[in-house]
Amino acid sequence: MISDFSTDDDLVQIRQSVRKLCESFPPDYWRRLDREKAYPGQFVEALTREGFLSVLIPEEYGGSGLGLTAAAAILEEIQKCGANGAACHAQMYIMGALLRHGSEAQKADYLPRISSGALRLQAFGVTEPTSGTDTASIKTFARRDGDSYVINGQKIWTSRAEHSDLMLLLARTRAKSDIGKRTDGLSMFIVDMNLALQAGMTIRAIRTMMNHSTTEVFFDDVRIPAKNLIGEEGKGFRYVLSGMNAERILIAAECIGDAKWFLEKSVGYANERSVFGRPIGQNQGIQFPLANAYAKMRAAELMVHEAARLFESGAGCGEQANLAKLLAAEASWATAEACVQTHGGFGFAEDYDIERKFRETRLYQVAPISTNLILSYIGEHVLGLPRSY
Ligand SMILES: Cc1cc2nc3c(=O)[nH]c(=O)nc-3n(C[C@H](O)[C@H](O)[C@H](O)COP(=O)(O)OP(=O)(O)OC[C@H]3O[C@@H](n4cnc5c(N)ncnc54)[C@H](O)[C@@H]3O)c2cc1C
Repeated sequence: MISDFSTDDDLVQIRQSVRKLCESFPPDYWRRLDREKAYPGQFVEALTREGFLSVLIPEEYGGSGLGLTAAAAILEEIQKCGANGAACHAQMYIMGALLRHGSEAQKADYLPRISSGALRLQAFGVTEPTSGTDTASIKTFARRDGDSYVINGQKIWTSRAEHSDLMLLLARTRAKSDIGKRTDGLSMFIVDMNLALQAGMTIRAIRTMMNHSTTEVFFDDVRIPAKNLIGEEGKGFRYVLSGMNAERILIAAECIGDAKWFLEKSVGYANERSVFGRPIGQNQGIQFPLANAYAKMRAAELMVHEAARLFESGAGCGEQANLAKLLAAEASWATAEACVQTHGGFGFAEDYDIERKFRETRLYQVAPISTNLILSYIGEHVLGLPRSY
C-alpha cells in the first residue's frame, strides 16, 4: 500500500471515512457508468450526505469549516480508491467565489442549502468555443434590464450542467471595445438552472473519451434577477482568478490519488505476474519506470502539501499551486503509462480499470488549465521572463 505523508490524526480519520464510503462503490459501478456515460448520482449523494463536499463551507453555513488540506485529502483518497471525483470536485472550489465575493444575503440563502445537499452547485461556465484559454475574450453577454440581466451567448465544456441546480456563470457586462483593460467588464452570476431551462437556456451533452458529463450551454435571452450578480459588476475576472489557486491545488491532489492508484495496481501485478519463470517485477525494464514514476509522484505530493499549507495560511501561493498542478498531472500520467506497460495486454482490458483511469487522468494536462499555460505563468510570474501571449 502506498503510504500518505500526513500523520495528522484528523486527516487520517477523514481518509479512512472516504475509503469506507468508496468501498460501497466498487469497480463494477464505475465500469458500468463509464460504458453508459452515466453520472454517478448515488456516489455524489453519498459524499454529500457524509459532508465531504461541504468541508470548505464555514460551520455557520452548515459546512465543517475545514481547510484546503482536508479537501485535498478527500479528493486524493477518492481517486486513490479508483473512484472519480470529477463528478463533483467543482462544488468544493467554485463555492469559494460565493463565499469570498457573495453578499451576506446570497451566502445565507445558498450556502446552507449547498451544505445540506438541497442545492447542487456543480457547474462553472467560463470557457467558450471561440475564446478558449483566452478568458478575457468571452462573448456571452449579460445586459442589464431593470431588475434583471438578459443573457445571450454560448458556453462549452460546462461540466455537470445537467446535474447541477446552480451554475456560476462568467459573462460580459460591458463590450470589450468600451473598456480600457481587457479583463474588466466581466461579471459573475449565479444561474438557477431549473428556472433558466424554462426561460431560454438549453444544454447539449458532449460525449468525450472519458465519462465526464460535460456539455455545451446556450443562452437565448435568458432573464435572471439582478440580485444574482456576485460582488461588483465588472470584477468577475478577478473573482475567477481568486479561486484558481484552490482549484489547482485540489486537482493536483486528485492527480496524486490517481498516481497512487496506478502504482498500487502496478506493484501488485508486477509481483504476481510470472513470465519466463519469474515475476515480471524482477526485470528492471518493469521496475525502473515504476520507481521513476513513484519519485515524480512523491515530489509532486510535497508540492501539493506545501501549496495547500500556504493557501491555508493566507500567504500568496500562485507559484506553488501552479507547480503542484503541473507536477502532479505529469506524475499521474507517468504512473498511468507505467501501469499500462506493466500490465501488457491486460492494461487494455476494461475489467482491469486501468484503461478507464488512463483516459480519466489524461484530462488534467488540459483542464482546468493546460500545461502550456502553467508553464507561461512560471516563465512570466516566477522567472520574470517577458509575457508570451
Ligand atoms: C472534459 C473537460 C471538462 C471541462 N470542464 C470545464 C468546466 O466545467 N467549465 C469551464 O469553463 N471549462 C471547462 N473545460 C475547459 C477547459 O478549461 C479548456 O479546455 C482548457 O482551459 C483549454 O482551453 P481550450 O480547450 O479552448 O484550448 P485552446 O485555448 O484552444 O488551446 C489549445 C491548445 O493550445 C495551447 N495554447 C493556447 N494558447 C497558448 C499560448 N499562448 N501559449 C502556449 N500554448 C497555448 C493550449 O495550452 C492548448 O494546449 C473543460 C474541458 C474539458 C476537456
